[in-house]
Amino acid sequence: MTTKTRRACIAVLFGVCMLSTLSAKEATFGQKRTALEILTLIQQNRGDEEALAKLLPIVQCSFKPSKYEQVLMAQLRDTQTTTTQFRSVSEKIGALLVNKVIECLPSKTVVVETPLTKCYGEALSGQVELVSVMRSGDALLDTFIKHFPDANISKFLVQRDEKTAEPHFKYMKISPELTSGHSVVITEPMIATGGSLEMVISLLKEKGVKEENIIVASICAAPEGLVRLNDRFPKLRVVMTMLDEKLNEKKYIVPGLGDFGDRFFGTPDLSH
Ligand code: URA
Repeated sequence: MTTKTRRACIAVLFGVCMLSTLSAKEATFGQKRTALEILTLIQQNRGDEEALAKLLPIVQCSFKPSKYEQVLMAQLRDTQTTTTQFRSVSEKIGALLVNKVIECLPSKTVVVETPLTKCYGEALSGQVELVSVMRSGDALLDTFIKHFPDANISKFLVQRDEKTAEPHFKYMKISPELTSGHSVVITEPMIATGGSLEMVISLLKEKGVKEENIIVASICAAPEGLVRLNDRFPKLRVVMTMLDEKLNEKKYIVPGLGDFGDRFFGTPDLSH
């Protein structure tokens, strides 16, 4: 074999190796995958921040809850937690969610004068509109209003059929400023199937809200719901406290915390 032929063979071999490396990577992240494939990849890549961020780009925060968030989540999950304690813990988690939402908001550098000197600081540069998906979305409202005292509040009532877990639209009252280009923050403590959120976000978009202006703030999310939202609304942004394992056959989040609304409002379902 001549030197020229040997060099050509090496070049071809190198090319084949590069291609196979690329396609292995693409097989994980690059191509359009089915929901089931993405769910499998999420389970396989749990604990790998980078991989999860590529699989669920709508998620704008870390997938790893802080120690404080883990402590608060354990209290929320615990069946021994009383309604009073549940409300108090929800408020603390809500404040941490506000922090994550603020990371997504536009801001500008400002000059402030301290008693000692001038210095640079940061100020939010846009207005915020709040959207609550009743009932459980209301549980986070007080905390969000504290941090965004000027925000208008739009409300949606979407009830989940307890047998089919399908969402049914019942009521909405929306702020006239929703479509003014402001950031629109939806409070939804539990992302289970993502069905109610899909309905609310579609209605908001029909009214003229831009998908990229919408931020969902959630405490506990199932991979199934996130995959659905990621597929339907690729420009949406989601911040959350905890990515849970899965949905059960009744479409409740596992390990989850049960029915958030019932636990927060003190209205346990005694029918079963
Ligand atoms: N809504 C809840 O409150 N809990 C779930 O597990 C799912 C939806």
